[in-house]
Amino acid sequence: MTQELGVTVDKHKDVHEWYSEVVRKAELADYSPVKGCMIIKPYGMRLWELIKEKLDGKFKATGAQNAYFPLFIPSDLLEKESEIVEGFDLEVAWLEEDGEKDQDQRLAIRPTSESIITDYMSDEIRSHRQLPMQLNQWANVVRWEVSDTRPFLRTREFLWQEGHTAHATDESAEKEVMMRLDQYREMIEEEFAIPSITGYKPEHDKFPGAKYTSTIETLMPDGRSIQSGTSHHLGQHFAEAFDVTFEDENGDTQTAHTTSWGFSTRVIGAIVLAHGDDDGLVMPPNIAPIQAVVVPIYQEDNQEEVEEYAEKVAEDLEEKGLRVEYDDREHRTPGYKFNEWELKGVPLRIEVGPNEMEDQAVTTVRRDSGDKQMGLDREQFIDEVEQRLDEIQKSMYSELEDYQQENIREATSKQEILGTIGKSRGYVKTKWCGKEGCETEIKDQVAAEIVVLPFEEDSEPEQIQGDEDHLEGECAVCGDSAKRWAYFAKNY
Ligand SMILES: [Zn+2]
Repeated sequence: MTQELGVTVDKHKDVHEWYSEVVRKAELADYSPVKGCMIIKPYGMRLWELIKEKLDGKFKATGAQNAYFPLFIPSDLLEKESEIVEGFDLEVAWLEEDGEKDQDQRLAIRPTSESIITDYMSDEIRSHRQLPMQLNQWANVVRWEVSDTRPFLRTREFLWQEGHTAHATDESAEKEVMMRLDQYREMIEEEFAIPSITGYKPEHDKFPGAKYTSTIETLMPDGRSIQSGTSHHLGQHFAEAFDVTFEDENGDTQTAHTTSWGFSTRVIGAIVLAHGDDDGLVMPPNIAPIQAVVVPIYQEDNQEEVEEYAEKVAEDLEEKGLRVEYDDREHRTPGYKFNEWELKGVPLRIEVGPNEMEDQAVTTVRRDSGDKQMGLDREQFIDEVEQRLDEIQKSMYSELEDYQQENIREATSKQEILGTIGKSRGYVKTKWCGKEGCETEIKDQVAAEIVVLPFEEDSEPEQIQGDEDHLEGECAVCGDSAKRWAYFAKNY
């Protein structure tokens, strides 16, 4: 493998250096002349488009409609909901000169669009018959991060979808919040082959102004958690601030209940980290921009026949609906091509040489396991190819599922939480009293925080959000009576 093409860092030795190299060399993204902003290259963009297509399909099948709102948000709208400004203060980028130099029209670059969309809803909604109003926008947002930026995982500008809905009742809003979180879970588990943990964020860490924030967390191989999507129940807080009212069946004026939910290009970082290895990316077949690559291997005297046969194999796979690349580049050797497609994580490589041609066969190599199968009957292989991709998808998931299970460790004292995070990272499951101070004590010493309060099968959401104790035992940190199970982890 040439120095230029190959990954030079071992993943387990320096995961951050490895990550930067893989993202660049696999051509997902590159650094840009703007600090903290990335260029998403065509291969990375194709991946995002596939994610977008699948998620957008789920949204539309469940009532959401796409719309688009301005990139700029007037300061008076942003400040109307004072808690937003407070919560986002450090991250909001303001337009310093808008040409008109009109102080009343100071403009923010959207960090998120609750204010401008809720303001629109207030104009639009008159009657209960218009509810629920379920809007979604695919857009870019800007958060002027001060800490270290990293392609996909933490950038000042990123792409996402943000859903915003208004409902007649709290129950309807609650249902929306959970439905969207579940759609994110389906994407992450079924399409990305990454197991997840869903639950709530602690009260002090919820979206500013929200009734509660629900989150989906995924565990990375370095034992750190990535928040991979959030869905917020905003209660009537925003609707009250922006006067989103409607006339109910009895002609009475009511205030709406709103939600918001978002999923961003950050998840691409999770896919890279979760599945990649020392040779580069390993793409889960369901979301892989290229699911199979066909590489012809020939000598001068049989080039034409081998190419013809290989191209036919690629066409047959395409007809089956697969995303296929036929690599007939003449200036590259087969070995170079193998390395390049490995680096890009293509799940299945199909090698076709004179022997395969003679036997009407193909040779396949799996990217995830490296398993090579020679001389497979061509017709049968094409019939079974979807099943083979499905097997790869499942085995990638179950490998990570085992990893996640092994990395949830219970702790019953402060020393045990600190020791376990320090020694093994992963999730430390512990009973918690609900006080921020008990999280701070851990955070100050090992930079780990409560990333999720997992949903519990036996509890209703209202119960979980309520103040009443519903857990036997004591907080591992302070010894007061416990309210909830909490997962501590270091996070991205
Ligand atoms: Zn406590």
